[in-house]
Amino acid sequence: MSSTLITGIGELVTCDASLGDESLLGVLHDAALVIDDGRVAWVGPAAQAPAADEHVDAAGRAVIPGFVDSHTHLVFAGDRAAEFAARMGGEPYTGGGIMTTVAATRAASDEQLRAGCAARFAEATASGTTTIEIKSGYGLDVATERRILEVAREFTPETTFLGAHVVPAEFADDRAAYVDLVCGEMLAACAPLSRWIDVFCDTGAFSAEETRTVLSAGVGAGLLPRLHGNQLGHGPGAQIAAEFEAASVDHCTHLTDDDITALADAGVVATLLPGAEFSTGSEYPDARRLLDAGVTVALATDCNPGSAYITSMPLIIALAVREMHLTPAQALYAATCGGAKALRRDDIGHLAPGARADLVLLDAPSHEHLAYRPGSPLVRQVWLGGLPALQQQ
Ligand SMILES: [Zn+2]
Repeated sequence: MSSTLITGIGELVTCDASLGDESLLGVLHDAALVIDDGRVAWVGPAAQAPAADEHVDAAGRAVIPGFVDSHTHLVFAGDRAAEFAARMGGEPYTGGGIMTTVAATRAASDEQLRAGCAARFAEATASGTTTIEIKSGYGLDVATERRILEVAREFTPETTFLGAHVVPAEFADDRAAYVDLVCGEMLAACAPLSRWIDVFCDTGAFSAEETRTVLSAGVGAGLLPRLHGNQLGHGPGAQIAAEFEAASVDHCTHLTDDDITALADAGVVATLLPGAEFSTGSEYPDARRLLDAGVTVALATDCNPGSAYITSMPLIIALAVREMHLTPAQALYAATCGGAKALRRDDIGHLAPGARADLVLLDAPSHEHLAYRPGSPLVRQVWLGGLPALQQQ
């Protein structure tokens, strides 16, 4: 593979505080970066840049790490635009519409599921996402959960078995039998295709005891734990995430001081999904309270057809800044390095030498423009493992 030198970088965000201005974002101005063999080989002042086979002139624009979207439900069929419209008309979000998507997903062919996922994946890439996590959870039977994960695996190694998303209608009178199925035959079919085990532990979803049962079974099958928790109420999700030393607990809208202390002590990332609050018209999580307590915060889209049909990480950054009062720097860090930590990856989410060369050239002079100009297509070029994945004309 040939090497590439990018010069003329007006602002290079490395997300490595030991580089550049030693801030959270590790910013270098008038910088250059060398990609070699799929990795970042060198960063530094443009005047000192070494030679390379290819040359790209950033012409004063900003270069940032690619976004790490650590929470999506990208494989599904159908949409729920009518439900969204009704909700915007005043009806509350209860999570009950998930079965609508389950019915459509079970009825879809592999090709239909793949095509839908590919279209959303392309949208995500075009908005600067270079790593994406994808969950199952719209099959809720052995065959469909496995089919979803087979499709997801074609797009990312960061796949999550979420058989415990909701109890499907056919098990409404026997929840215990569904939990047994998830922990037995369904887990056996899905574990070889998954890196992670996840449970929707919340009001109207799975109880503390059910959550512990499913997480324990997943861990026993070699999967790493993560959780949906504390979205709809003050549930036990955050405490269970700490108990299992989960990589992340996701949503975190309703947390007590004890929950936050438990997350900080156990090193669990709090992944915030403000697209869900935006799309359901509900209260945003208190991101500043988490940061002040020393909890690592990640931002992700939660892309799903019910509560957040959003693929754009720049939009999530804008929401985090405007609605959750993160600084633009904190939001960008959470959308890159924070996401990497939520996936326990140290090779992505930053641009120090040795990192995977997943980077984004913005059509803007600085990262602040991501929140400052919401809705504008600021992603000009994307490199994935050092290879051009997108170039806007
Ligand atoms: Zn989710």
